[in-house]
Amino acid sequence: MASIFEELEKKGHEQVIFCADEVTGLRAIIAVHDTTLGPALGGTRMWRYEDEAAALRDVLRLSRGMTYKSAAAGLNLGGGKAVLIGDSKTQKNEMLFRAYGRYIQGLGGRYITAEDVGTSVQDMEWVRMETDYVVGISRALGGSGDPSPYTALGVYVGTKAALKWISGNESLAGRTVAVQGVGHVGYHLVKHLAKDGAKVFVSDIDSDNLTRVTSEFRGVEVVSPEQIYSVPCDVFAPCALGAVVNDDTIERFRCSVVAGCANNVLADEDKHSAELERRGILYAPDYVINAGGLINVASELQGYNNERAVAQVQNIYTIISQILQISRDENMSTLKAANRLAERRIDAIARIKDTFAGAPLTRRPGSSS
Ligand code: NAD
Repeated sequence: MASIFEELEKKGHEQVIFCADEVTGLRAIIAVHDTTLGPALGGTRMWRYEDEAAALRDVLRLSRGMTYKSAAAGLNLGGGKAVLIGDSKTQKNEMLFRAYGRYIQGLGGRYITAEDVGTSVQDMEWVRMETDYVVGISRALGGSGDPSPYTALGVYVGTKAALKWISGNESLAGRTVAVQGVGHVGYHLVKHLAKDGAKVFVSDIDSDNLTRVTSEFRGVEVVSPEQIYSVPCDVFAPCALGAVVNDDTIERFRCSVVAGCANNVLADEDKHSAELERRGILYAPDYVINAGGLINVASELQGYNNERAVAQVQNIYTIISQILQISRDENMSTLKAANRLAERRIDAIARIKDTFAGAPLTRRPGSSS
């Protein structure tokens, strides 16, 4: 990285904060990418980075991604992210997270955190002892709890929007879906699909997770982790790992739609989105269709309400439809169309905020009336 400031300017980051505390061993970087729409929200990732430059690159990339994700999801939130440099298996403790929480509090609400890879609800409860600006708290403490069912709901409605777009019929009855990974989100997705009467092929490397879905739901059949790519199906739903649409797998797909919860599904965004399109496979952009968990957790900011969260997650159907329309009208990949939708919303809201909307009357100190 040549110059940190140049790097920030290039991708539009507003602020980066380095936090260090010798006593607890805290080494954290908080990145606030864009706050046009509201406070920057994004999880805290704990990871053993190769070096500090790798940690900085990751937090800059992830915080920018959150700006797009929140904007496309219709949330009044900006994009942020934080990384804790360290081993999440051996270096976690109350003092570390409380020390970190104080830095977040010091930002006065510009950044709101949540759990992410390497951090847990327990860790966030420690963070919460020192700051108001944390979401993803357990239901017992008035929070939104496990985000996975909401992520799955978003993937389910987004898949229906994609099916409607390609065939005029959104019903899953009689359709075939291949779900890769039946962990937290995949389990709930299979539940929706089975309930609607879809035939579901599943793969996982964890046999307990496979047994759970085959014993609980009808019409579920297990295939091997390799077979899942080539099962003839309407929808391939990646719910395990990133980069599963790559040079090797794309050849094998026999689906009409790729729609799942995994992040960074395309190994190479430009190349593989173009290749899917060439093969007539519709790609539902990952960061849009998997935003249900984010929408649910963000609902804590208004005082958590399950009904409101569900309604907002169901709106992913409309958002996916809008993206597909932009993609067709403007002749661009669905991923570029999603970015366009997000950027337009940010630009429009920025312009709206230029309008003077009145200010509270203030009394000058010392005046009698
Ligand atoms: P999880 O760890 O609970 O489930 C992942 C499942 O995939 C596990 O059962 C695992 O055994 C399985 N798996 C791993 N390697 C596999 C392989 N090669 N083939 C088949 N299965 C394999 O995770 P999750 O919370 O369900 O999340 C799944 C994905 O979605 C992750 O990439 C996550 O980042 C992303 N995501 C999750 C949420 C959420 O709300 N949990 C939100 C947005 C994005």
